[in-house]
Amino acid sequence: MMEKQTISMVIPCYCEEEVIPLFYDTLVNGVITQMPTVDFEILFIDDGSKDKTLPIIKKLSEKDCRVKYVSFSRNFGKEAAIYAGLSYASGDYVGIMDVDLQDPPALIMPMYEALINEDVDCVAACRASRAKESRIRSFFAKRFYKLINRMTGMEIVEGARDFRLMKRFVVEAVLAVGEYNRFSKGIFEWVGFKTKWLPYQDVERVAGKTKWSFWELCLYSVEGIIGFSTAPLAFASATGLLFCMLSFVAIVVIIIREILWHGSAYGWASLVCLIFLISGIQLFSIGILGQYLAKTYLETKKRPIFIVKERN
Ligand code: UDP
Ligand code: MG
Repeated sequence: MMEKQTISMVIPCYCEEEVIPLFYDTLVNGVITQMPTVDFEILFIDDGSKDKTLPIIKKLSEKDCRVKYVSFSRNFGKEAAIYAGLSYASGDYVGIMDVDLQDPPALIMPMYEALINEDVDCVAACRASRAKESRIRSFFAKRFYKLINRMTGMEIVEGARDFRLMKRFVVEAVLAVGEYNRFSKGIFEWVGFKTKWLPYQDVERVAGKTKWSFWELCLYSVEGIIGFSTAPLAFASATGLLFCMLSFVAIVVIIIREILWHGSAYGWASLVCLIFLISGIQLFSIGILGQYLAKTYLETKKRPIFIVKERN
């Protein structure tokens, strides 16, 4: 008889007391009982929650031995929670999903079937529409995917979620990318392997609030671009070269004008504008350099990605 395979589901949670019981019921009744041929490990990562998230998870773990948890010493962010989850997951297949039921648990079954029946290493979900999102947010999200794909040469699917199920060797590959500044969507793409995408209709959070403001999403986007592309660094050199050429043309024009008509030293206002423009571009370029330097600085410290306070 073939040994039963195990699926570990990694679930990052930060202040999610309202949704955990709902999530657990949906996962157990809607998925786990429907898949009797596989064992499950439900691995909650408590990302330093300040509410009753941890006690609720602990209670679940007391009555259900499939429930495991890892609790951080403080909030380290979802990326760190994913990394911790992948490190502690013991299953033959490892999945990642949000706890707010925005990642439909019903997709786990088709994901698993694709992994065992088709020639794929990873099955991931992407949103088929952004109907539940504000227009501005989805406009910027679309632009971001275009920009990062162009800059990095990667093909991050627009609307890609972190919701996915992977074979063991994909997990090992992701764990081998041990960088401190983590951008999972990029890392999953960077490690390669064959990924199948399952589109699904956008769902709203069942309860609680999103942890991401628009500004935080912007910063996260910058993190993604800096983590996977050095193209912004070329910006300073390119604009520097362009301005050198422009000023050379301007010098030639002024000399010719001086020779032909005399008196070419006018234009105080335009001079001030030019000084502002060029110093703006210089500061902007230094800023880009600074961003890379800051990330390098944080990487060289080799601080742990997360710190565990307790686990079962
Ligand atoms: N999350 C986390 N740490 C954080 C922020 C969020 O572990 O610092 C978890 C959160 O509990 C949820 C998932 O990451 O399970 C996605 O968070 P959220 O629903 O707020 O993001 P959105 O779906 O709005 O992108
Ligand atoms: Mg959510």
